Amino acid sequence: MENKNHFDYIICGGGASGLMLMRALCFDPFFDKKKILLLEKESKNTNDRTWCFWEEKESDWESILYKSWDFAEFKAAGVDKSINLNPYKYKMIRGIDFYKKIYEELAQKSNITLINQEIVDVVDKKKYGLVRTKNESYIGDKVFSSLPNHLHLENKNKFPVLNQHFIGWFVKTEHPIFKPDTIQFMDFDLPQKGNTRFMYVLPFSENEALLEYTLFSEDLLENEEYETAIKDYLSQKNAGEFSIEDKEQGAIPMTAYPFWKSNTPNIMHIGTAGGWTKASTGFTFQKTMRKTNEVVAFLKQDKALNTLIQKNRFWFYDLLFLDVLSKHNEKGHLLFSLMFKENKTDRIFKFLDEQTSFLEEIKIMMSFPAGLFVKALWKRMF
Ligand SMILES: Cc1cc2nc3c(=O)[nH]c(=O)nc-3n(C[C@H](O)[C@H](O)[C@H](O)COP(=O)(O)OP(=O)(O)OC[C@H]3O[C@@H](n4cnc5c(N)ncnc54)[C@H](O)[C@@H]3O)c2cc1C
Repeated sequence: MENKNHFDYIICGGGASGLMLMRALCFDPFFDKKKILLLEKESKNTNDRTWCFWEEKESDWESILYKSWDFAEFKAAGVDKSINLNPYKYKMIRGIDFYKKIYEELAQKSNITLINQEIVDVVDKKKYGLVRTKNESYIGDKVFSSLPNHLHLENKNKFPVLNQHFIGWFVKTEHPIFKPDTIQFMDFDLPQKGNTRFMYVLPFSENEALLEYTLFSEDLLENEEYETAIKDYLSQKNAGEFSIEDKEQGAIPMTAYPFWKSNTPNIMHIGTAGGWTKASTGFTFQKTMRKTNEVVAFLKQDKALNTLIQKNRFWFYDLLFLDVLSKHNEKGHLLFSLMFKENKTDRIFKFLDEQTSFLEEIKIMMSFPAGLFVKALWKRMF
């Protein structure tokens, strides 16, 4: 008799990576006959985050774009660079719109099951993956897990861990201080206090924007410190009175820890838990789109999940960058300033998207102070 708890694929966690993978499998006819289960503990009916990413072409998210921008600015002491993002657009989508769109699309599919349960563990039993929740056990021939794991924290001596941490306020200001078509990608023109600290501003109108006081550093701050920095910034820009319409907060791990080493023949870690967060920036959404396509193509070859090679030269660049940034956290503003000063913008975004040629990468490397990176390279080699 068929076991109702046996699936071809089980996806653990229905956030960005779990839902993108579920959607990709559902819309590829190759998987029409596969039974797929998504296990998620939350109802995903709140706007728990917003995602931004850049891309050249239109993608699957056009219908839920909240806003997109054609221009950006980069600021630091002595640098004020206006950037025409062409051929890219910088795009924003709200978590709630993403979840709603995908759940609506999935509702039309008969080969999938969505269950709201909290997973307690995921184990490879050699012939299959076993997923246990508080109430039930499920068998998956292949299991994908985006559940947070903390392996990187146990290995931080070998692979330093920083966080991209921030508090963001959606504000309405009395005075028109924002340029609606221009984001502040990184504004380092504020006290660095021995870290890498910047303001990230996404304007919606002259009076409305999301401002995020952001650090790339090891330790999180008390909430008050992020909030005071946002207030100071608004006052410096002469915003006048302002109201806070909404808030968001995050701490995204930045590490080159090779998460994929804990994949097994029947279990693959995906999303941030799979190392799909770009270690040098914390951006994850765009990389998750790319990795999802890679995983779907790989699944068609019916190979052991731990044979998908995820390490590439960009991983090594990120490793060195993180080595430098964790040792010289106060130099982050300088490193990013040099990168933006010395390079064409499309080369920078292409590089961060891991799409550059080796020659383009050499040009980017040349913009950084050689001494710091040679030392880091030497330490990694010997
Ligand atoms: C506030 C915020 C803003 C961000 N903004 C950006 C951005 O602008 N651009 C960008 O590229 N990246 C951004 N990120 C980083 C990254 O894109 C997100 O964290 C993204 O959601 C990561 O996707 P994921 O699938 O790895 O994890 P998640 O989206 O967090 O999904 C994991 C899912 O697993 C579920 N889960 C956890 N434990 C269990 C359990 N035991 N049982 C069942 N389900 C469980 C969770 O409820 C969740 O739905 C942001 C992160 C945050 C927190």
